[in-house]
Amino acid sequence: MSDDKLLLSLVVPCCNEEEVLQNFYDTTLAVLNGMTELSYEFVFIDDGSKDKTLSIMKELAKTDKNVRYISFSRNFGKEAGILAGLRAAAGDYVVLMDADLQHPPKYLPEMYDKLKDGKYDSVAMKRTHRKGEGLFRRLFSKMFFKLMTKLAENDIPEGATDFRMMSRQFVDSVLSLTEYNRFTKGIFGWVGYETYWISYKDEQRAAGKSKWKSGSLFKYSIDGMVAFSTKPLAFASAFGLLLFVLSTITMLVFFIKTLIWGDPVAGFPTLICVILMMSGLQILFLGILGQYFAKAYMEVKGRPVYITKESNLEKNENDKLSEEK
Ligand code: UDP
Ligand code: MG
Repeated sequence: MSDDKLLLSLVVPCCNEEEVLQNFYDTTLAVLNGMTELSYEFVFIDDGSKDKTLSIMKELAKTDKNVRYISFSRNFGKEAGILAGLRAAAGDYVVLMDADLQHPPKYLPEMYDKLKDGKYDSVAMKRTHRKGEGLFRRLFSKMFFKLMTKLAENDIPEGATDFRMMSRQFVDSVLSLTEYNRFTKGIFGWVGYETYWISYKDEQRAAGKSKWKSGSLFKYSIDGMVAFSTKPLAFASAFGLLLFVLSTITMLVFFIKTLIWGDPVAGFPTLICVILMMSGLQILFLGILGQYFAKAYMEVKGRPVYITKESNLEKNENDKLSEEK
């Protein structure tokens, strides 16, 4: 690293990416070599890979002194990888990228251009459309971004990805949020600053498989909402109140009707339906409550977000990392 150049850190969480990692490195390096005003460092995070991902990282580190790697003791999830990478990144600018080339490195110069004159604090990419995704998944993701924007009260544009280049100040702000349940898409919006959005056409994974299943995407969305909004709780209370008022009115109506006309009360099937509906709703809202309780429980435990098994970071950097819980 030469001293007079600004440093760009590339943070890359990897989980079982042996098929694509070398390709990612070569492609990205070619782009970086064209960005002559910057020096670079790669920060690879091996998130409990079961394949040769870690040994590829080690090979890269042997031949390129600008390659750092952190290897977790098991899979902690992409959010944990992002956190470890951001903590380790020393750059004046930091860019977050997927290893599968779905965040094409060719956009790096454009992102840097927007960032370098200091008008923006981060430059983020959003996809215009995603190839090879079913109708259901597209609809679901559209709904997710709409709902998240409403709930979290900060704008998460549709198709927002984690592909983002940030200034040092922006990164430090992101790191100042010490929560255990990390929903990075929300955190990026929450910290504020000026973000410039660039649209790009999504590319297919260069090799390997996506780590997401529809089930885990659903869980991710729920986690995001719970982490960034307490509105579901308010909604549950409001709905409960509404039902209470409605049922009181209905009761009064029946009471008065019986007093005046002496109608026998009929309609057991309706009664069963109402009981079922009410108990269903109660369980649903208990569930919502439980989600928050569970999150609070995990926060209170104060466990570390990830555990590092090995890395080639300088000793003191590692100490610093473990101190920050
Ligand atoms: N990833 C990770 N830990 C995980 C899952 C994924 O570090 O538990 C990494 C993965 O290696 C990739 C990035 O996160 O670099 C995005 O994952 P993927 O391509 O599977 O997600 P998709 O692009 O399908 O949303
Ligand atoms: Mg991908």
